[in-house]
Amino acid sequence: KASDRKFKRILLKLSGEALMGAEGFGIDPKVLDRMALEVGQLVGIGVQVGLVIGGGNLFRGASLQKAGLDRVTGDHMGMLATVMNGLAMRDALERCNIVSRVMSAIPMSGVVDHYDRRKAMRALQRGEVVIFSAGTGNPFFTTDSAACLRGIEVDAELVLKATKVDGVYSADPAIDPTATKYDRLSYDEVLNKKLGVMDLTAICLCRDHNMPLRVFEMEKAGALLNIVVGGDEGTLIEE
Ligand code: UDP
Repeated sequence: KASDRKFKRILLKLSGEALMGAEGFGIDPKVLDRMALEVGQLVGIGVQVGLVIGGGNLFRGASLQKAGLDRVTGDHMGMLATVMNGLAMRDALERCNIVSRVMSAIPMSGVVDHYDRRKAMRALQRGEVVIFSAGTGNPFFTTDSAACLRGIEVDAELVLKATKVDGVYSADPAIDPTATKYDRLSYDEVLNKKLGVMDLTAICLCRDHNMPLRVFEMEKAGALLNIVVGGDEGTLIEE
């Protein structure tokens, strides 16, 4: 119910890798449909949702550079990959009758809207899901930074990072069985302990603008909805 809602506007970051499901590359439509349904539940209780989707399922600048390409060209390819993922997500949302639009930091007339903060905010207020694609529009950045940047710009109350594990651990739980989960961390703890939740640029942006961040497991059914009604999923990073 709308009265259960704790957050009115959130920014959700989905990695590109999450979209490929069991495949090694590309987009798994089943995963996309599941995510669209989860996002739809938020919209259903009146939460305004901004989405940032990564591109790692298709291209990453750093990997392309290792393969011999120019880094900036690789980053441009990575950013274009996020636009493709954004189009796929919009398609999945619309199949669930959720109104959405893709905005791109790189103008792509005729395909998607160019990012405009005021237009984005008006769309969010109308209840449209806004998918912010092409990252920040600049090479050497990541979509994690783009998520924090857009979250701060559009006045989201919380940035949510969907991951494969249910929060931030002291070590990689897949490798180290003694790893323990943090329920809460400060920005400085994340930086000092080098926890690698997100890149430093993203964490510093959130710290400087006091934007709370929650890391949670996307595969866990209902986790996203639980968060927006005030539940304690994953790890909260704040002052
Ligand atoms: N990228 C970029 N600038 C940005 C955001 C992304 O150059 O502001 C490029 C970069 O090459 C990155 C790729 O796009 O590797 C895909 O984004 P990311 O690696 O963040 O995706 P994810 O890991 O979330 O799937």
